[in-house]
Parts: sequence; structure tokens; C-alpha cells
Amino acid sequence: MQGWRWWRAGTGRGRTGAESGDDTGGGAGPAAARPWHSMDTVAVFSSLATSPEGLGRDEASRRLARHGPNRLPEPHRRGPVLRFLAQFHNLLIYVLLVAAAVTALLAHWVDTGVILAVVLINAVIGFIQEGRAEDALKAIDRLLSPRAMVLRAGERCIVDAGELVPGDVVLLQSGDKVPADLRLFRVHALQIQEAMLTGESEAVEKTVEPLPEEAVIGDRRNMAYSGTLVTHGRGSGVVVATGSATEIGRISGMLAQVRTLTTPLLRQMSRFAAWLTGIIVAVSAGTFLFGILVHGSPAADMFMAAVGLAVAAIPEGLPAILTITLAIGVQRMARRHAIIRRLPAVETLGSVSIICSDKTGTLTHNEMTVEQVATAEAGYRVTGEGYDPHGGFLRDGRPVAPEASPVLAELTRAALLCNDATLRRDDDGRWVVEGDPTEGALLVLGMKAGLDPVFEAEMRPRSDVIPFESEHRFMATLHHDHTGHAFAYVKGAPERLLEMCSWQRSDDGQAPLDLVYWERQMEQMARQGQRVLAIASVPFRAGVRELRYRDLSSGLVLLGMVGMMDPPREEAIEAVRRCRSAGIRVKMITGDHAVTALAIGHQMGIGDGRSALTGSRIETMSDMDLRRAVRDTDVFARSSPEHKLRLVQAMQANGAVVAMTGDGVNDAPALKRADVGIAMGGKGTEVAREAAEVVLADDNFASIAEAVVEGRTVYDNLRKAILFILPTNGGEAFTIIAAILLGHMLPVTPVQILWVNMITAVTLALALSFESSERDIMQRPPRDPDEPLLGAFFIWRILFVSVILVAGTFGLFLWELDQGGDIEQARTVAVNTLVLFEIFYLLNSRYLTASVLNREGITGNRYALAAAALLLLFQLLFTYWGPMQLLFHSRELDAATWLRILLVASTVLWLVELEKVVVRRLRHV
Ligand code: ATP
Repeated sequence: MQGWRWWRAGTGRGRTGAESGDDTGGGAGPAAARPWHSMDTVAVFSSLATSPEGLGRDEASRRLARHGPNRLPEPHRRGPVLRFLAQFHNLLIYVLLVAAAVTALLAHWVDTGVILAVVLINAVIGFIQEGRAEDALKAIDRLLSPRAMVLRAGERCIVDAGELVPGDVVLLQSGDKVPADLRLFRVHALQIQEAMLTGESEAVEKTVEPLPEEAVIGDRRNMAYSGTLVTHGRGSGVVVATGSATEIGRISGMLAQVRTLTTPLLRQMSRFAAWLTGIIVAVSAGTFLFGILVHGSPAADMFMAAVGLAVAAIPEGLPAILTITLAIGVQRMARRHAIIRRLPAVETLGSVSIICSDKTGTLTHNEMTVEQVATAEAGYRVTGEGYDPHGGFLRDGRPVAPEASPVLAELTRAALLCNDATLRRDDDGRWVVEGDPTEGALLVLGMKAGLDPVFEAEMRPRSDVIPFESEHRFMATLHHDHTGHAFAYVKGAPERLLEMCSWQRSDDGQAPLDLVYWERQMEQMARQGQRVLAIASVPFRAGVRELRYRDLSSGLVLLGMVGMMDPPREEAIEAVRRCRSAGIRVKMITGDHAVTALAIGHQMGIGDGRSALTGSRIETMSDMDLRRAVRDTDVFARSSPEHKLRLVQAMQANGAVVAMTGDGVNDAPALKRADVGIAMGGKGTEVAREAAEVVLADDNFASIAEAVVEGRTVYDNLRKAILFILPTNGGEAFTIIAAILLGHMLPVTPVQILWVNMITAVTLALALSFESSERDIMQRPPRDPDEPLLGAFFIWRILFVSVILVAGTFGLFLWELDQGGDIEQARTVAVNTLVLFEIFYLLNSRYLTASVLNREGITGNRYALAAAALLLLFQLLFTYWGPMQLLFHSRELDAATWLRILLVASTVLWLVELEKVVVRRLRHV
């Protein structure tokens, strides 16, 4: 009762000093006050006023209200002011700021104002969009919030780890991330990797016995600390600290990491931008000197021209646009169930050339139904749908009662008891399985045979278990009945069990194992794409309470085999087809039998239906042989996580960019090694998620294909933004350079060029960030990851468009002058031509090489249309509004002039479309 008082004391008044340790704000802090590791488990339970059955639900919510959620304080985020200032931290902007300062010194106030406006508009848009991007990433982080299996009032349930409170009983199993600080009270070969706390990368074997009080964290082997990873076994522990009171909470300040919105491509671009700035400054200086020395122009005029040139040429909007494009891509992927954990993956996804996928659950529904049972003397078909436990058995097409065959009765009982799944009806009345679907199917089989899981478990209680692990491919449970007989049930992969069995059961006794018969049965089921499991039993001495591997290595009695179907996902079949047309090879790596894997692969369009490579074969192969083998093989069967690692390495050695799925603890090395590691959000372990770049919220292969589409789209949009921005800057800059070189009057004054830049810099290009995927996106081969960003095509397009812009703007300017127009009039024409050029070219830029001359191409991006409309409005103000005319020396234009401008500006649309035709032709020859 003392502990209960302690607990109550926390809610009331008059606590003693030692008890006040739990008053630590957000998290629960008894850990600070109590040396939990040195107390025995009874004392721990009583101190926390709980029991091994866990807390009641009401008590748990009371404690949650008192202690707050089990979350670490948010990592420190830059405040809005700092974030805003960071927008100016960019070489391109520095140059502009210097230009503003110099123009101010020369008292060219309008120029100063416009340059500052350019900088400010950019910063504001960058600030807002980057804020949105960060919020989006945070929301995505929340999607990944961990869950925990707890006992509440004796019942297992899965809760959000944030809801854990001190006193909760948490069940751990391999692959979990420990959700709070726990004092362990039951362990089964439990090993935990605590590197994040102790730096020790070897997993620690856990115990439950009390330890000396002075033991340091690394030696507290009866504790499991929040954030560490369970690498093996199972265990139960009681929560002693949550949130910021946990060990990790105390040091989380050290771990808080700020995520930066960058990827290799973006880094490459910012390096490029820095280079460009250097060149622009040099060219501006050169032009300045040229003007003075060669043409003898006044220094002040030439200086302003040089500033205008620098501002025109600097792509100040580029960094913001690229970041925004990336963030939009991440958001789109999340909407399609692919959650990006590490941003570079967005880019890598676009160049993936091989996807290695698990079978169960990713390519298939992971809803198993036993369809066939084979015993030593008969074959049965099982009727019924899905997990509904109503159905029966047919033998030669006629219904039979399962009790009529003692072997069948025993087999179904073993299927029911050697099982950790539970079956229940959800709110819609559908039957759902909690736990492993393979076991769910076996539970349903037992119930179809008329067995009641609760009654059976009471009649034959379980005293020990060897859980299923993919490495040894079986599960075993030890039971005893009320007369004291002990026996084990074993179920697992047939070839594994056949090695362990010496006998087979029949209705009238037991006979030596008929290997040939069973292999035929196995083959016949597997060929239909069924997952086959063998089920066996073995008697033990009365009083045996522990199961050891070596007791099961031989002498088992085979009861029979079951074949279960897990239908392929329709959308995955379609997604495999799309991947193939996109030049991506899909490979299936499964723990299942080769024959089953081939049959399912065939249904899904993976592999040739004939050759599969098995794990045991992989083991005998040298690295060179494996490299050769992975070129032609698409189905890998009976392979374990270690094989996955070798397979990824072999494919990468062949030059492939590999995406690999995984869910188990042991998949982590392969996930890390792959170019894109993809973990399953539903059935995957926390360990796998931590190792992966992408987490699939719905475990569905189709979502991988969607993520690839988005990855390619993001990359395309980044390229489109670059390909739009650089030529428009180039056009503006060359117009000025041309005028200076020719010793001509500037067609656009520096302040006018600043105006153009101000209104077009971010607005237009931003529309490209929202561009959706091109229609042929999954008909192109994957991008070569080594392909340079600014390849020949890019440089050509930039020059080509720049020249069109210069020729049009300059040409029309000269023509106006020639027709007797005054210089102001001609310049107004030039500015409007330049802006309209950019609007038309924005349309071209929606597709890199595909034609935009269709309805979708012209009207498909509403952001582009809105930006164009806004810009036209600005230009009307520029041309007709008095104050603007004063500021920019602009003049009104008549309808005929507008028509000329429109005609000339639209040439870019036709010429670039023509160029695209040629490029497309060239690509096909
Ligand atoms: P995939 O790699 O396609 O997702 P998987 O991971 O489900 O397949 P494993 O779980 O490694 O494959 O299963 C391998 C084999 O082990 C199965 O073919 C089956 O025979 C056996 N098996 C699967 N689950 C259990 C279980 N719960 N108990 C006993 N044996 C099982």
C-alpha cells in the first residue's frame, strides 16, 4: 500500500522531498527519484501502483492528464526572425544588396527601392514557402509516430507511444523501439541495442534481477531505455519514466537535429549559382569598363547599366524555387502513402532502375486463407471466405466432419494452439486478425474445425514458446494437459519440418515418414501459389517446462501440411507493369518456397516463371557468380535478410540503382545499403523504419511505383524551373550587353530591368513547382544518376531562348525607334515584349521536350495561368498608370503596338516547340 500512497501523494499536497521527483512538467519523473534497477519487481509494481496486468483504462487516462504525453520536447526550431534573415544569406542576394547600397550612395533612389523590393519579395516568398515546407515535414514526422503494445486491464492493445504513462506494462519484441523507460520484469532472450545512449553498438542481453544501486546506465541490464532498439527476443517491462523524464529526454538537447531542406542536386545548384554570380559580377565589370573605354560613355550611366545587368542576370529566385519544388514533391509523396524520411531519397527515387520487393503484404494482400489440408492418408479442401471462421472440410468433394479423422482433429488443434494471433470482429462486423496473418489463417482453420481457442488454451495451457523467426522458419509451443502429459506443437516451412520429423501420424497410429509422398504434396500446393506450412507434434516427459531448439531437432511426428492462399494485389500487378514500361526491373525477394514464389511471380508479371534463386544457392555462390546471376533472375526464394544484403551489393556492382523493401530487424543492413531503403509502415518494425529512407504507410507495392513517379516528377520540375529561369535571366542580361557592345542606347533602362525582374523572378517559375507528372513519365528509362544537370541540351536551350529574347526585344525596340517613336515609347515596348516573352516561354517550359500545343499543355497548370494573369495586370499598370509612368518613364501604347508585341513575343512559343520536334526526332534516330 505504501506505493499507492506514494502515487496518490503526487496528486495531493504534502509530498516529501524524495517524492517530489515526479514533478517535472511534461514528462513523468519518478525515474529521477528512484533507483528502479536496484528494486525488485514487486517493489517496482507497488511503487507505481500497478501490476503485471497493467493499468486500468481509466487510471491510464488519469495519469496521462497528470503527466502529459510521452513525447520529447520539440527540437529547437529557428524562430521566424532568424528564418526570415536566413533568406538573405545567399551570395546572389549579397551582390544585390551591394548594388542597392551603391545606387543609394549615387542617390538613384528609385533603383535602390526596386532592387530592395526584388530582394524583399524573394525573401518573403521564400520565407512563407519554406515555413510551409517545414510544417509539411513536421506533419510527415507525425505520421511516423511510434506505437507501443501495452497491457491495459490485462488486455493487449496497441497505443500511440505518446499515450504511455508511468505504471503501464509494455510488451517488447524484436524490432521494436523501446517507447519509454521501462523496468523489465519478464524477458525471453531479450537483447537491446543501446548505442544511442551508451555508444556501445553490441546489443545487450537483458535480465530482470535487481542490480546494485551504483550500476551505471550501460550496466543496468534490467532496464530498457526509451529510444533504444530491440534486436532479439521478447520481454515485458513497466513504464517508470516518460517524455522528458526519460534518460533520452534528459540528453535530447544534444540529439536535437535540425533538418535541412537540401539534397545533392540542390547543393550542386547552389554551388553553380555561386559560380554564376562570380561570372556575372565579372561580366558586369567588364561591360562597365568597355562602355567607358571603348564608347566613352559617362561613368555614372555605365555604372547603372552594369548594376542593371548584374540584377538582370542573377537568378535570385532559383534557390527558393528549388527548395519549394522539393518540398511540394515530399508532400505529394506523403499523400500517396510514401513518407520520405531523408530528403535526398526524393531525387534518388527518380533514377531507380531495380526495385526489390518482399512478396507477402507488399505484392500480395497479406490475407491468408487455408485452402487445402493434406494428411498422410487424405487431402481436404477447406471452404469459407477470408477470416470468417465459418466453413468446413470437403473430401473428394463431399463434406466431412473433422472429428471423424483423429489426425485432422489433432492437426487443426495444433494449428490453433501453436499460434499467437487473435481473431475479432471490427466495428463493421468484419473478421480481422490481430497478429501474423499466417497464424490468423491457421486460427481460422482451427475454428472451422469447431475448436474454441479459449477452451483449448485452458485445457492445454502453454508453458513455453519458441517464436517464429525467419532464420529458422518454424514456431514451437510447449503444452501440458490436466493429466500432466507434456507435448510440443511445431509448425513451419515444410522442408525445415521434414528434416525434424521422423514419423508421420495416421488415423490408426504412427508410421515412418514417407518423404516422397510429402514432397509431392508440398509441390502440388506450392504450384498453385499457396504458402505451405507443415505441422507436427512431439511428446515430452511430464514436468518439462522449457523448450530448447535441440529437443526439436529430430523425432517429431508430422501431422500434415496446409496450403494457404494470399491473393496478389490487383493494383500491384498494374504497378509492376508500369515499372517495366519505365525501364525498372521488379524483383521479388521472399522467404517463401521457390515454387510458391514462382507461381505468384508469374501471376504478377515478375520473372519468367521458371527460374528462381534460393537462399541456399546464394550462399554457395561467389560474389562474381552472384553478380552474373542477378542479371537474369527476378525471383529469389527462401532467402533471409543476410541474402538481401548480398543481393543489393551484387546489383549495385552491376551499376543498378536499387530500391529495396524490408520490414524486419535483420533487414536493416540491406535497407541502409540500398540506394533507397523502403520500410513498411504497417507491418514493419521500428528498426527497419529507422534504417530506411522511405516508409510506406500502406505497405503496398503500388505506392512504391507512385513514389517513383513523384521522384521523377520532382526531378523534372527542378529541371524545368532551372530551364525557365536561366534563359529569362540570360535574355535580360544579353539585351543589356548587346546594347552596350553596340554602343547603342539601352533598350531597357536599369530600373526597368529591375522592375521586370521583380515581378517575374519568383512568380512565374513558382508555377513550375506545382507542375504535375508528364504523361510519358513512366515510359522513359530511369535517369542516369551520373548525368550532369547542365548537359549539352540544357546549355543549348538556354542559349537558344536567350537569343530569341534578345533578338525580339532589341529588334522591336529598334523598329519602334525607326518608325519615329520616341525612346520612352520604344523602351515601354521593349519591357512589355520581355515580360510577354517570359509568359510564353513559361508555357513552353511546362514540358521539357513534349509539345504543349494542346489543351492540357496550354491550360493544364492553373498556377501558370494565374501567374500570367497577374503579370499582365502589372504590365497594364506599368504602361498606363500615372505614378508608374513617372517612376519608370513608361508611355501608353496603342492597340497596334500591343499586337506587334504579342506577335513578336509569341515567337518563342513556336520556335521552342519547333525545337522540341527536332529534339524528339533526334532522340529517336
Ligand atoms: P516475404 O519475404 O515474401 O514477405 P515472408 O517474410 O512472409 O515472405 P517468412 O516470414 O520468412 O517469409 O516465412 C518463410 C516461411 O516460414 C514461410 O514460407 C512459411 O513456411 C514459414 N512461416 C511463416 N510464418 C510462420 C509462422 N508464423 N509460424 C511458422 N512458420 C511460418
